[in-house]
Amino acid sequence: MIPRTNLPDGESVPTLGQGTWMMAEGRRDRDDELAALRRGIDLGMTLIDTAEMYGEGAAEELVGEAIAGCRDSVFLVSKAYPWNASARDLPRACAASLRRLGTDRIDLYLLHWRGDIPLAETVAAMERLRDEGHIRHWGVSNFAVADMEDLLAAGGWRCATNQILYNLERRGPEWDLLPWLAARSIPAMAYSPIGQGRLARDPRLSAIGAKLGLTAAQLALAWVLNRPAMIGIPKAASPAHVGTNLRAVELGLTREVVAELEELFPPPRQAEPLEMI
Ligand code: NDP
Repeated sequence: MIPRTNLPDGESVPTLGQGTWMMAEGRRDRDDELAALRRGIDLGMTLIDTAEMYGEGAAEELVGEAIAGCRDSVFLVSKAYPWNASARDLPRACAASLRRLGTDRIDLYLLHWRGDIPLAETVAAMERLRDEGHIRHWGVSNFAVADMEDLLAAGGWRCATNQILYNLERRGPEWDLLPWLAARSIPAMAYSPIGQGRLARDPRLSAIGAKLGLTAAQLALAWVLNRPAMIGIPKAASPAHVGTNLRAVELGLTREVVAELEELFPPPRQAEPLEMI
């Protein structure tokens, strides 16, 4: 059973979802990728993260295929390029994403990163898409505290999440951003929770995990998911990985294990610029 967390308006979403960056790019067998996404949905990882950027639309098409027949049980997240976040272009970008996804609504539509379009214009465009029913919630990605402050000043109080780079090696957000979001009941969405696969190969994590019957990847993911109001969106193109990732949410890490991890991957000691990939 996957735990859930609340968006600011009280709607709950699973804390473990599925990422799709680098899927549908010919790196893997398409049938395997489809099988992985469908297995994840069957296991309850019904929050699926994609973006118009991924494979220039190909990932959204793959997701559309994966959710055909079970759209209503999925919480769909997609993202718009910053240069599409204007009053004129956001509706077009959203319509194109909806077409590729084969659905009439995106559950959570994010500004992929901050660009040059004034935030007030993007907020108004998001609100209009919401009023018209094309999206159900909107949010941002890669926003530091100062960006979030600007967003609120631009009328963006309905922002439902901030999707950020967060994992054992990238703990900078703990200094200021995560407390800022928590104070406003905005959940964070951790991307690259396994460090783009790097943490799965970390021998120190393997050693700690071995004592618990876990792989390094499961341990890294469990650590992220152990934080309150945190949604993790690992990408797993192989059905086997999807299955083992589920185990990470079923685990409560003991204080001793957390302490061991803290020693290997210490928290920030000062404010750090928000990193992104
Ligand atoms: P992840 O940290 O999710 O790592 C993905 C890698 O980990 C893949 O190589 C995958 O292998 C491997 N992996 C997954 N599960 C396991 C497992 N159980 N054991 C061993 N290896 C495993 O990196 P991503 O960068 O993909 O981040 C996740 C998602 O976050 C993206 O797909 C995307 O949706 C989103 N994202 C958002 C960004 C933004 O700017 N907003 C930026 C980057 C990502 P395999 O595929 O072979 O299963």
